[in-house]
Amino acid sequence: MKTAVIGAGIAGLAAAVRLAVAGHEVEVFESADGPGGKLHQFSLGGGYRFDFGPSLFTMPQYVDELFALAGEDPRDHFSYVRLPEVCRYWWPDGTRFNAPAATEDLVREAADTFDVDEAQMKAFMDKAAEKYELTGRTFLEKSLHKASTWLDPQVAWAMLKIPGLDLFRSMHAVHAAAFDDPRLVQLFDRFATYNGSNPYKAPGLLSMIPHFEHHFGAYLPTGGMYDIAESIYELGKRLGVTYHFGQRVERICTAGTQVQGILVNGEELDFDTVVCNMDVWLAYDRLLAGSKRPERTLKQQKSSSAVIFYWGIDRAFPELGLHNIFFSHDYASEFGRLEEGKLSDDVTVYVNISSKLVPGDAPEGHENWFVMVNAPAHAGQDWDTMTTDLRARVLAILEKNLAPAVAPNELEKHIRAERIVRPPDIEALTGSHQGALYGSSSNNPMAAFLRHPNFSREIDGLYFLGGSVHPGGGLPLCLLSARIVGDLVTGR
Ligand SMILES: Cc1cc2nc3c(=O)[nH]c(=O)nc-3n(C[C@H](O)[C@H](O)[C@H](O)COP(=O)(O)OP(=O)(O)OC[C@H]3O[C@@H](n4cnc5c(N)ncnc54)[C@H](O)[C@@H]3O)c2cc1C
Repeated sequence: MKTAVIGAGIAGLAAAVRLAVAGHEVEVFESADGPGGKLHQFSLGGGYRFDFGPSLFTMPQYVDELFALAGEDPRDHFSYVRLPEVCRYWWPDGTRFNAPAATEDLVREAADTFDVDEAQMKAFMDKAAEKYELTGRTFLEKSLHKASTWLDPQVAWAMLKIPGLDLFRSMHAVHAAAFDDPRLVQLFDRFATYNGSNPYKAPGLLSMIPHFEHHFGAYLPTGGMYDIAESIYELGKRLGVTYHFGQRVERICTAGTQVQGILVNGEELDFDTVVCNMDVWLAYDRLLAGSKRPERTLKQQKSSSAVIFYWGIDRAFPELGLHNIFFSHDYASEFGRLEEGKLSDDVTVYVNISSKLVPGDAPEGHENWFVMVNAPAHAGQDWDTMTTDLRARVLAILEKNLAPAVAPNELEKHIRAERIVRPPDIEALTGSHQGALYGSSSNNPMAAFLRHPNFSREIDGLYFLGGSVHPGGGLPLCLLSARIVGDLVTGR
């Protein structure tokens, strides 16, 4: 069996490994000059290394299982540490909360900081666990578009339970009902952004997301996030996968309803199976022009995008951790502005500093700041003006929160190296329609059912995977999409 994989994002890399293990002759075609897609890395002058995109790593077992499949010990090739603290939260009123990783510690320390008692917090986290246990396997680990999934008794049981799982009220409504303290509501609302959604619209079922972080844990690969992509790429090489970098696929070739191969550099290459890791909207637009388009699926609202400032900072800030969130005053208006395609005047700022745990990521006594603000998907906005204004506001927000460690107008003087990435840059660099970070959003109760299936309904031998299709964006789900495609292709 000859298989072509279009795109070396995390899902494409993982599928290549799975299919090589199953005995396929696998070739990966990637338009960029290296592997990883959104999970690539780069450096800035002065000795600062940055991961381009993902900074939070959960469910590392989905990476480990690729090595196990190939008969290797993952620890010989890929290592990570479990984080004792998942995030440092900062509010405009001066509240600070360093969220511990373990659920029991979170429950206890939240009760010490917020207007909540331990029983309330525990009940909320128990409900998150129940939501995951009942629906995780159904919605995330199987194709929702195959009859066999719906004949599984476990799935039927989950469907019966759905009315009690908050599918039809928003995450925010669930959190506001569970907690009186608005800071705690905001803290849990924030998890909607893990798949680029709006907590005021995304279904309350997604309030299971904190369970991933606090029960299964948050991790960091010992060499930084890019280790994930690189180690899977190296595993593929050991299994005989061929990678073609700098090779943009121009078309998916078909004969009747059967896939025949791909067109690259004007040359048709024959393959029995084609696995597409390219953003599904762009794949229909560019590689499948003339094929029947699943319009309803392709019209789904995009997930949010981001403006990212990568800063090499020439001093250390001990008050900051690996993950830090500086909340805005008014989350509702911030998300309202995103829905209008704009940025709020008062934004929530996320700062990730991998050099806190990976010393080689910045020179001694310096730090590498990945400073991200949620932004609307790219629809022709004036990003130059918006980004200039935003940069000034972000600096002011950080200076205010970090005072007295830094004086007003002083932070900018510590930026020794800088790169700025806006939604159109994310689109251009990673082939993501409108620069969406996570494909389509989960802003309606049917979102899970409206994602594109992991296979083509029109063309035999064509499969789809990655953040823009089922089960969705984020590294764990992309890895699950590769697992689902591996099973579909090999008929398991
Ligand atoms: C700023 C940012 C922050 C994020 N934070 C997190 C986080 O903390 N945790 C998390 O889990 N997730 C996070 N994500 C989301 C996560 O990065 C993505 O969901 C995931 O990496 C997408 O992987 P993918 O397999 O869909 O492929 P992508 O990474 O989207 O890669 C697709 C690849 O296909 C290639 N390609 C496209 N068209 C063609 C063509 N015609 N021919 C050949 N190659 C082509 C592209 O060049 C690209 O390399 C973040 C994303 C971004 C951008």
